[in-house]
Amino acid sequence: MALNGFNLNGKVALVTGGSKGLGKAMARALAEAGADLFISSRHENELRAALDEVLSGTGRKGRYAVADMSRRDDVTRLAKTVLEQMGRVDILVNNAGTNRPQSIDQISDEVWDNVVQINLTSVMALTRALVPQMKERRWGRIIHISSVMGFLSKEKRNVYSATKAALLGLARASAVDLGPFGITVNCIAPGPFLTDLPGTLLSDAEKKAFADHTALGRWGEPNELAGPILLLASDAGSYITGQTLIVDGGFVVR
Ligand code: NAP
Repeated sequence: MALNGFNLNGKVALVTGGSKGLGKAMARALAEAGADLFISSRHENELRAALDEVLSGTGRKGRYAVADMSRRDDVTRLAKTVLEQMGRVDILVNNAGTNRPQSIDQISDEVWDNVVQINLTSVMALTRALVPQMKERRWGRIIHISSVMGFLSKEKRNVYSATKAALLGLARASAVDLGPFGITVNCIAPGPFLTDLPGTLLSDAEKKAFADHTALGRWGEPNELAGPILLLASDAGSYITGQTLIVDGGFVVR
């Protein structure tokens, strides 16, 4: 496939949690490849600034909406808003996620339900709402952002690991449902990327331990997800579905 298989001109992408971290880096990569962009999160000021950054110099269009993925109504409203404002969604990146560490003997119902809703249920609900219009055009790309914590784990990562592993199963099953309609469904499983999420949860010793455990001996830079997301979001990856691409600097192989 020639390099133009990665071209996304004429496509519209929705990246949840696109205001910072990995979501913003992936949104930027999609805009640079030619897609128009829609991003969402809970904070309007961050969304406005992030959208400017994502679109800067690309000549692409974009919009944003505030949506809390822990609220089912917000997820439904987000799907409706993006279709009203952009007319279509060809590429859905289910990236918004959270991690609230609790050991299995202490986890509260509130934490369990909240993390399941954000990391798993909202992914189902948003995908379900946006698939019909992808089916009509017989083209779609759906990418769930899982984690290496879906394969292995760490102290107090019960609900986080459970939801990230569940996304792998959700992608496999949805790939079978949607393959006949030209829609692929895959996961990216990032390893350690130093964004706000691990930045606020880990001690300095834990950060060093993560870096030391990778084959490359360092944390990932968010823009190192640009290549992986473009492969799974474009025609370049047209025969890849139901898979998980681990992007971890060699964390799980050690
Ligand atoms: P981040 O920098 O904290 O960004 C998280 C994004 O999700 C932000 O835009 C945040 O915006 C949004 N978000 C969080 N809770 C939300 C909610 N309830 N409703 C709507 N949006 C919400 O984290 P990140 O590291 O980029 O993580 C992005 C994804 O990658 C997550 O699914 C995470 O599990 C996964 N991941 C990250 C790593 C890593 O090392 N960084 C590794 C493996 C997997 P607001 O807070 O403003 O809503």
